[in-house]
Amino acid sequence: MAVMSAENPVAKNAEGVYHFKMSKPIPAYLLALAVGDFVFKALDNRSGVYAEPAAIEKAAWEFADMPKMITSAENLYGPYAWGRYDVIVLPPSFPFGGMENPMLTFATPTIIAGDRSLTTLVAHELAHSWSGNLVTNATWNDFWMNEGFTVYFETRIMEALYGKDYADMQSLLGFEDLKATIEELGDTSIDTKLKLDLKDRDPDDGMNSIAYEKGHFLLLLIEQTIGREKFDTFLKGYFSRHAFGTITTEEFLKEYHSEITHNDTAIENKIRIDDWVYKVGLPDNCPKITSEKFNAVNVQIEKWKSGTPASQLETKNYSTYEWLRFLGNLPTSMSLEQMKSLDDAFHFTNSGNREIQFAWMLHCIRNKYTIANPAIRAFLNVVGRRKFVKPLYAEMLKSPEGKTMAKEIFATSKMNYHAITRETIEAMLK
Ligand SMILES: [Zn+2]
Repeated sequence: MAVMSAENPVAKNAEGVYHFKMSKPIPAYLLALAVGDFVFKALDNRSGVYAEPAAIEKAAWEFADMPKMITSAENLYGPYAWGRYDVIVLPPSFPFGGMENPMLTFATPTIIAGDRSLTTLVAHELAHSWSGNLVTNATWNDFWMNEGFTVYFETRIMEALYGKDYADMQSLLGFEDLKATIEELGDTSIDTKLKLDLKDRDPDDGMNSIAYEKGHFLLLLIEQTIGREKFDTFLKGYFSRHAFGTITTEEFLKEYHSEITHNDTAIENKIRIDDWVYKVGLPDNCPKITSEKFNAVNVQIEKWKSGTPASQLETKNYSTYEWLRFLGNLPTSMSLEQMKSLDDAFHFTNSGNREIQFAWMLHCIRNKYTIANPAIRAFLNVVGRRKFVKPLYAEMLKSPEGKTMAKEIFATSKMNYHAITRETIEAMLK
């Protein structure tokens, strides 16, 4: 069957000839085609899932909340403009988490965890139906207009569906990513500005968490300064005024002064938007989020560090986010005995959750916990999502024996990777 970022068939036809219709204007980067052995399963009358026959039931179960996500998004920022919203589950070699192709999001199977805990990604791609697909960044220098707005919107959908605690955990994990990215780039790097300068460069260079998370936190600051109700009214108007058009950062800034702050100096001085957009690093007025759930995780980590066995920690009802916080806050350096006690208690190496497995495997490589090597090899032989693959190789390259292992894995896995991932790793191994 063939499907596109357009109106799609729901069943194979004998001739193998398919016709597609997209009646709305879309930018070129949103035109996509998928061909394969897949089937369709409806979730409600306007949304459903495409996947290979062996994966369809699991996928449909995992994404069962999608109709609720669409309704919640519409309640926030106005009617969904594209008719149907479907998701297609791609092979694990797909180099990205998701791609918001209109009417048909392309998604990695690594979000199928069996417990619906990674479906935030679907909320993100759905939110792009407004921010990005309906109102599109005019150039890649304005990429944050697509991604920052989408992360903000996605968090609001998750809050509406699962509560503020849940959304706050998500935002805090995003904030950790942002801090790590600024550290990696250096806080004087021009790439830490929201408005990018990609002249003569590969637009792919701008695709890091600055656009996503620094953008998100700027919008959060605006929301907290003027009040959520006013900001929602603005956003609803913004999406309808610019529907099926493009926008630059500067056009948005004009509206910011006229429609959001109404040139009120006190408000503008609180937000200092030019610092966010045109200056490097993270401004000191960045909103602070606290999460009691995450604080509780830190307490358990401290207990463990001072000798409480892993099996006696209070982790009983941990969500994926709490596990990710747990793994993210473990010490960089751990003994093999410590690693083994964590693995025995929580079975991270063989977790069915790719995010948890990935976070754990970074520790395994760093601490030479070789028991996990077969699992790392198996993971990298199948999964081509660059977000996972690149850091795992980078960690291996830090030691001579790791480098040997990286080369071996790449030799047997590279044909399973998409060209984007393959080229990234090839350049690292040179
Ligand atoms: Zn996005």
